[in-house]
Amino acid sequence: MVDYGIKFWSNDDFIIEDGVVKVNFKSKPALIDIVKEVRESGYRGPLLIRFPHLIDNQITKIFDAFETSISEYGYTGEFKAVFPLKVNQMPNFVLPLVELSRDRIYGLEAGSKSELIVAMAYTNMKSPITVNGFKDREMISLGFIAANMGHNITLTIEGLNELKTIIEVASEMCEPYPNIGLRIRLHSVGTGIWAKSGGINSKFGLTSTELLEAMKMLEKSKLLHKFTMIHFHIGSQISDISPLKKAIREVGNIYAELRKMGASNLKAVNIGGGLAVEYTQHENQNCKNYTLNEFSSNVVFSLKEIASNKKEPEPDIFIESGRFISASHAVLVTPVLELFSQEYDEAALHLKDSNPPLIAELHEIYNTINEKNAIEFLHDSLDNMESLLTLFDLGYIDLQDRSNTEVLVHLIIKKVIKLLKYKNHNEILKIQKSVQERYLLNCSFFQSLPDYWGLKQHFPVMPLNRLERRPTRAASLWDITCDSDGEISFDPQMPLFLHDVDVSKEEYFLGFFLVGAYQEVLGMRHNLFTHPTEFSVIFDDDSNKGYEISNLLEAQTIVDVLDDLDYDTKDIERILKQHIEDSNLDSESKKIVLGKLYVMLSENGYLRTIMR
Ligand SMILES: *Cc1c(COP(=O)(O)O)cnc(C)c1O
Repeated sequence: MVDYGIKFWSNDDFIIEDGVVKVNFKSKPALIDIVKEVRESGYRGPLLIRFPHLIDNQITKIFDAFETSISEYGYTGEFKAVFPLKVNQMPNFVLPLVELSRDRIYGLEAGSKSELIVAMAYTNMKSPITVNGFKDREMISLGFIAANMGHNITLTIEGLNELKTIIEVASEMCEPYPNIGLRIRLHSVGTGIWAKSGGINSKFGLTSTELLEAMKMLEKSKLLHKFTMIHFHIGSQISDISPLKKAIREVGNIYAELRKMGASNLKAVNIGGGLAVEYTQHENQNCKNYTLNEFSSNVVFSLKEIASNKKEPEPDIFIESGRFISASHAVLVTPVLELFSQEYDEAALHLKDSNPPLIAELHEIYNTINEKNAIEFLHDSLDNMESLLTLFDLGYIDLQDRSNTEVLVHLIIKKVIKLLKYKNHNEILKIQKSVQERYLLNCSFFQSLPDYWGLKQHFPVMPLNRLERRPTRAASLWDITCDSDGEISFDPQMPLFLHDVDVSKEEYFLGFFLVGAYQEVLGMRHNLFTHPTEFSVIFDDDSNKGYEISNLLEAQTIVDVLDDLDYDTKDIERILKQHIEDSNLDSESKKIVLGKLYVMLSENGYLRTIMR
């Protein structure tokens, strides 16, 4: 069985059973059944499905791992966490997250004024808020307001000017003040495509010299007692654990040194985010070389060792994991609208009474190819195709001949793949690249998988059903934007095979997994495709299916999208109506056309029907 590497990336959150992908929880519904249920209510485009139980799952995992390491080493500091809002600010993610972590010390991290407002409104009062990123006077004042409200908030300083502003604001505002954190500019750097946040040249943090200066400023303004946390973040998706170990040793020693210099309320080390997600679908292509337990154990052990060597108390450990917490909770399901070369069946072949010799040869190959000669004949036919295309360019064969060439070569390839189904995988792989099938998906990669577009980040993808059947077509995936970057092409290093389906007879859906981190807000409205229709699946033992669909939010309508761009949509409607009025249609037709137009304006822009 081809399992699309589900054992590598799914952590048993999803499983394959009876030929379909199932959610591995409680009643174990099949994704395809959930999708069909929602589509029956008329939602035809791409669907973003959220599984709040998977948010809970990840929070539990991270707390369990750290709490286990803490008790194993007899560590005396506490473990606390915040979710960095920049990773996913959508209300249908954030609100369940806050609700599910009510019993833990789990707060929110904000990097902008808008995010801070969300954090101030929704963080449980006993849980922490941290604020990172560049801050102006207004944002700092907002932090003071949060503290006045009773929030346990820490403003992390990225540079000395921010500290100056805090000192000024403190002289104007009343207590309680927010706590102050200092972000350290580490010598250590992470690895991978997101490793820019660490290192001496990183965008953020204070150098040793600036730290000393900050200590003086805090002391002088009598705010040293508010300095409670040091912070670092070596970049997202840490693939290799050794730079993290180095960073922990660096930051642990800085912690101890600052305490010795009089920062007696410095009690927490915030290790930022970066815990990686395993996205790979293929053997030996892992994205990370450590487990969560190894990660937590390293952090706890190193900090314990440093504290003990330097005779300082063991600090509380803060983590700001975003990707690890949110990636798994969302799945994007896209209907396949069309397979581009499926029409090349025998009916498409229109041989002439007398054909050019190379075409006659192709036809002969098609009729006589068998398991033994398959590869050899295939190579011959690919050579013939090259020659025939050249002949066409030179004007020696006509368009019908060219079409017959295309059709015959495709038929031959399909036959070869069928003949060699169970053999010689490497050879087939090579051939497949030249005969990819193009699957047109009803979605926009720019909107829903922007990290694929921008960084070539791979997301696990697989069909939701037919999994008991062997997929035979090397697939490249096209989205419906009219941009040629909207393509995930076939990559022999990590090949994707899909089924040969006739989508006019049978629906076929692909699921993209682990899309819950970063993709939603980074997504852009290229071609004016919007955030897809989304909903949450809530497991409920009392319902007869075992789950309920809730928080359904339809993709924005065409009118709303244009309105967001500040078009005057009333004006657009008026102009379009006038155009119809002024046309040569009779009055009955005018009414019908106008009616159709209004319906379309009130729907979202994704495609609603299959193309044939
Ligand atoms: C982005 C960011 C995070 C989250 O990183 P993940 O890799 O998603 O865990 C945490 N802390 C800071 C300061 C960040 O900028």
